[in-house]
Amino acid sequence: MKEMQKETTDSTHYGEFGGQYIPETLMTELNNVAKAYDKYKDDPDFNKELHDLLNNYANRPSLLYYAEKMTKDLGGAKVYLKREDLNHTGAHKINNVIGQALLAKRMGKTRLIAETGAGQHGVATATIAALFGMECEVFMGKMDTERQKLNVYRMQLLGAKVHPVTSGSMVLKDAVNAALQEWTTRIDDTFYVMGSAVGPYPFPRMVHDFQSVISKEAKAQILEAEGKLPDAVVACVGGGSNAIGSFANFIDDKDVKLYGAEAAGKGVDTDQTAATVERGTTGVFHGMKSLFLQDKFGQIDKVYSISAGLDYPGVGPEHAQLAELKRAKYVGITDDEAVNAFEYIAKTEGIVAAIESCHALAYVMKLAPTMNKDQIIICTLSGRGDKDVASIAKYRGVDIDE
Ligand SMILES: *Cc1c(COP(=O)(O)O)cnc(C)c1O
Repeated sequence: MKEMQKETTDSTHYGEFGGQYIPETLMTELNNVAKAYDKYKDDPDFNKELHDLLNNYANRPSLLYYAEKMTKDLGGAKVYLKREDLNHTGAHKINNVIGQALLAKRMGKTRLIAETGAGQHGVATATIAALFGMECEVFMGKMDTERQKLNVYRMQLLGAKVHPVTSGSMVLKDAVNAALQEWTTRIDDTFYVMGSAVGPYPFPRMVHDFQSVISKEAKAQILEAEGKLPDAVVACVGGGSNAIGSFANFIDDKDVKLYGAEAAGKGVDTDQTAATVERGTTGVFHGMKSLFLQDKFGQIDKVYSISAGLDYPGVGPEHAQLAELKRAKYVGITDDEAVNAFEYIAKTEGIVAAIESCHALAYVMKLAPTMNKDQIIICTLSGRGDKDVASIAKYRGVDIDE
């Protein structure tokens, strides 16, 4: 693998991070995707179709909900929740999939491939493939297919073919490798729908743009509700797509503090963690230069989190840069803290939120009490938690499995 000649330094890189570290066989196609994206991203017809689908199919705009009970209970800043859990298919993933699938269609592609961890991105991709009448194949670590049988069946129901990946540790990082490998063997009719703000350029940029609808709406909604910007925005970080979408329209507002909640697993200082920014070092993997949990030889470490969606050994290059510039702060949240938040929000607000999102909530529970009552936090609820109920029950020693 060698780095592709970069055309414009500023759009393909984020400081020293990003780039395109890919096999030669993919270079031309990635360039085609980048060119097509440049052509369509400001195209009125493309954007009209995108917004029609977001609003009329995916249920946007999502609510910005004032969590009054939680606010009173925590006794500090006002807490607003950006409700991505209310989107069709139950998470923010659909925002990005609609955008990339529309681009694929414009490029004349008829087949979508994708990687998936817990299955949320695979389900979103299979959903849009069904809607668009496209072929869909999803690569999923064999371990994950066994842990997430319901989502495997759901994807099949939607007409997708699911490939259990048996290489490596048979988890998400191996699924990304398998999907990239598949793409090299069949480029003509195939578009790789990347599920997070990771991978080679132009994926991090496209995913940033398609997910930035979150903060575009949130900014207008908070100005309408409170007449001012929030003091802090908090979102969970796996690869970083819901977080970059939540941050995007606030990055230039220097007084708005940005927090990314990473999965610390059993603890940031243990070897069972996925706290990539806090513990990671600069390296190259999955086509990008970024921060990764790796040994001194660059071998990617096994990562761990109770949350399958945050169980990724790297982070998107833009987050690596935001961390380096100290524009955003990344905080580790343990399994225990996330599970407590899962139960807390259910009981106080009547919302069963995804365990991933509960990492962000757990940080809000620490942050809000340290702030004044006239300050505001926006926390993104990236998804709904139905998928997590059985595993949280198990964590508490209750077996509700079939
Ligand atoms: C996939 C997923 C995440 C993690 O992915 P990001 O790209 O970091 O947003 C977080 N929450 C939910 C509900 C997910 O499905």
